[in-house]
Amino acid sequence: MMNKKGIIAIISGFSGAGKGTVVEQLTKRYGYAVSISATTRKPREGEKEGVSYFYKTKEEFEQMIERDELIEYAKYVENYYGTPKEYVLSQIDQGKDVLLEIEMQGALKVKEKFPEVSLIFITPPSAEELRSRLVNRGTESIEVINKRMARAKEECAYMKDYDYIVVNDELEECVEQMHRLLQSVHYSKRNQQELAEKIRKDFDQYL
Ligand code: 5GP
Repeated sequence: MMNKKGIIAIISGFSGAGKGTVVEQLTKRYGYAVSISATTRKPREGEKEGVSYFYKTKEEFEQMIERDELIEYAKYVENYYGTPKEYVLSQIDQGKDVLLEIEMQGALKVKEKFPEVSLIFITPPSAEELRSRLVNRGTESIEVINKRMARAKEECAYMKDYDYIVVNDELEECVEQMHRLLQSVHYSKRNQQELAEKIRKDFDQYL
């Protein structure tokens, strides 16, 4: 008998912590579903509509909020980011585990609505390493990098609200650790309650 319920796992971490790469590898290797967010931020070079994000104008985004089409949304460094509801709910109903790569305000809002979600925080081994990754990425101005470092400092305060903290030092190791963690959440008692109940009821036909 298959477990038919997928989990929602929220993956957050400082901008530049390498969450995107970890999530990409988890999807490629193990077939996790990934929620694609809507944002008012402009596409970076190489990013694609409907793959990296759904790019929206401020007006379009505000309409999505009004129509209650988002599980959560947040403003991050002057842009809106939000998680479209329909995809996530349909995936977990089909038994797929869904990863949401979102920042902390949004993560905590989802946890309030759905306490069963797992909050996973990915961190680089040090602040120095974070800064050098942001600089090497070469996609943001120094001004934006400084803003992101300042934001990361503030975000340290939220680490205590997360269920799991994973260090992304070596990518390989981090991806494997994440997969083991997600598997154990998937098969946890908390996520298997419906299945357990179904099995219990199955016995009724014999007794
Ligand atoms: P970036 O501009 O670097 O792609 O993303 C900036 C931040 O927004 C990252 O921390 C990313 O995880 C977060 N983010 C991306 N999508 C969403 C979303 O749907 N909701 C929220 N709350 N944050 C998001």
